[in-house]
Amino acid sequence: MAKKVERHFCSFCGRRDDEVALLLTGLNGYICDECVKQAADVLGLSLSETKTDTTKYNVDFKDVPKPKDIKAFLDDYVIGQDDAKKTLAVAVYNHYKRLGQYNIKKKDNDVEIEKSNIIMVGSTGTGKTLLARSIARLINVPFTIVDATVFTEAGYVGEDIESILSRLLQVADYDVAAAECGIVFIDEIDKIARKSDNPSITRDVSGEGVQQGLLKLLEGSIVNVPPKGGRKHPDQDYIHVNTKNILFICGGAFDGIERKIAQRMNTHVVGYNSVQNIMKIDKSNLMKYIVPQDLKSFGLIPEIIGRLPVLTYLNPLDKDALRKILTEPKNSIIKQYVKMMELDGIKMKIDKAVYDFIVDKAVEYKLGARGLRSIVENLLREALFEMPSSNEKEFHLTLEYAKEHFEENASLVG
Ligand code: ADP
Repeated sequence: MAKKVERHFCSFCGRRDDEVALLLTGLNGYICDECVKQAADVLGLSLSETKTDTTKYNVDFKDVPKPKDIKAFLDDYVIGQDDAKKTLAVAVYNHYKRLGQYNIKKKDNDVEIEKSNIIMVGSTGTGKTLLARSIARLINVPFTIVDATVFTEAGYVGEDIESILSRLLQVADYDVAAAECGIVFIDEIDKIARKSDNPSITRDVSGEGVQQGLLKLLEGSIVNVPPKGGRKHPDQDYIHVNTKNILFICGGAFDGIERKIAQRMNTHVVGYNSVQNIMKIDKSNLMKYIVPQDLKSFGLIPEIIGRLPVLTYLNPLDKDALRKILTEPKNSIIKQYVKMMELDGIKMKIDKAVYDFIVDKAVEYKLGARGLRSIVENLLREALFEMPSSNEKEFHLTLEYAKEHFEENASLVG
């Protein structure tokens, strides 16, 4: 005898469960999908609205700034580094173009523009992160900065490489479609370099395994992302993220890579012409001669280098650049401290000689641009402590004052 099927009915409209797409069970009754929709209408809610429609990240190609505009914008915040700025401007512009191409979906859209991930090489404190942060102010796609040093191979202590995408998802309010168009800046990429040029027989925990993991993200694949980041967990639900359209910008100091560049340049020079060329080499800035092969000598695997086809460099900062950094950018360190005093109703006047003094100290202590802030903070500590309680309306920072107060606290710098 066939078993009798027990039927349920919507408590609102009376339809049977086999007449509706979905019947939800409550404590004392049922409700069908149609009635849920009607209830939502009554409340003025739209259930059909997907998150993608309401995303704050709508890419309209008409509004996208041109590469020259992007560079001009970066000029307001970052001193010098023209090569890196131009490279980034073009890359970001093309990123938008590629996204526009996916939005068009025309039949004649037969040429697919592939992404060109970027790698920026430059000593620490020359403006790599600043460039990335400044770009983030301008663009309207999800953007995140992650540090490569926190990743290790699965199974070892540290975060899984997929957590890069968790952060992008968080920034995009878990709007997967928006995250899939985002930009990720991976800082300190040099820290996951293989420790020696020869592929090791034993496994290199910190380096090569992480590079292999990263490769998967860079080349464009569907990745299972733990929504909350951190380590993968067997019972966790994953979000599937396609990395095909995510632009990756990597940055690293690659300490000592100049030696590899010099070695390569020395071994490649043969003949009279080459001798002439070597005379013209700017030995104070070998970084500008960097080629992908040098990254390989440093310990990046060729597959990763192949997935980072755009290579650019940042110049070391000389005194002139440091002085500009101190005063010129829109939110330069000096402007910030002037503003801080202003909030207490105090007008700060600074003698030009003080700027040179600060720059000289930054060079002397080998602190680069990063040290400028601590030196200024150091000079002004006493003034910042005393002035808000005084009735003074003006503060004059002279060279004498600077020297006196810097000497007092010199040990605090660096
Ligand atoms: P890194 O190259 O190590 O990522 P950062 O971008 O973090 O260096 O720079 C550290 C700080 O130094 C920045 O916050 C900024 O104040 C200053 N700085 C470095 N380079 C520049 C530059 N080219 N223009 C303006 N400020 C800079």
